[in-house]
Amino acid sequence: MRGHVGEIFSSVQGEGLLVGRRQVFIRFAGCSLRCSYCDTRRYWDPKPTECRVEVSPGAGRFRRVRNPLPAEEVAERALALLTPDTHSVSLTGGEPLEAGDFLVEVASSLEGRGVRLYLETNGSQPATMERVLPYLRHLSLCVKLRGQGSVPEKEWEGLFEREMDCARMASRAGAETFLKVVVRGEEDLKDFEGVCDRLAELGLPLVLQPATAGRRVVPLRELLPFSRAAAERGVREIALIPQVHRLWGVR
Ligand code: SF4
Repeated sequence: MRGHVGEIFSSVQGEGLLVGRRQVFIRFAGCSLRCSYCDTRRYWDPKPTECRVEVSPGAGRFRRVRNPLPAEEVAERALALLTPDTHSVSLTGGEPLEAGDFLVEVASSLEGRGVRLYLETNGSQPATMERVLPYLRHLSLCVKLRGQGSVPEKEWEGLFEREMDCARMASRAGAETFLKVVVRGEEDLKDFEGVCDRLAELGLPLVLQPATAGRRVVPLRELLPFSRAAAERGVREIALIPQVHRLWGVR
């Protein structure tokens, strides 16, 4: 089947517990959430006319190919960018789960070729998560806080429960999973404290990531209360990790 992809390129993972690992990134197009801190807004469009594909691993030069692309071609183009130091292929977005069967086909094709897969998701689509999980080795699940504008206020609880479903499923399936919460500063603390007990129940590591897109640098003194609140409520493994790819001026 065919689907829409924003870009395919080789770089270094800049977030979360796999930070610093070389990866090939497949950025699926489209996301229906609207997080106020989003740094990939140009991939909200689910049907971009073109996908940019890096010409060689890490070259930073791209050629444009027309969307929609067959799943097999997406997998082949990612495989062409593998290097001996590549840790895994990151299925990212936008929101990759919104690609549904197209995502599952790309994942199945790559996993069948012996590639280790890492999914970066907001966990909003448990049905697709269930289908793609058998192909995943690693998973980053970004939990959205009530006040972050991701969905209208009245839809937030539904989103949060879907995120929890995806996290439990991933944990049961044995994928190496961590939760991520992007923190805009002290304005998010009350909402964060409100979900900490639920996050702790999952027994998964938690990454607190200061928001950076077009914002002030969140001072460490504003972040530490989040780490403390999570520990007090029973989250056992907590890491504060900023987006390191920004040090290299990479988006
Ligand atoms: S879920 Fe991710 S891609 Fe979608 S709006 Fe939020 S930060 Fe952006």
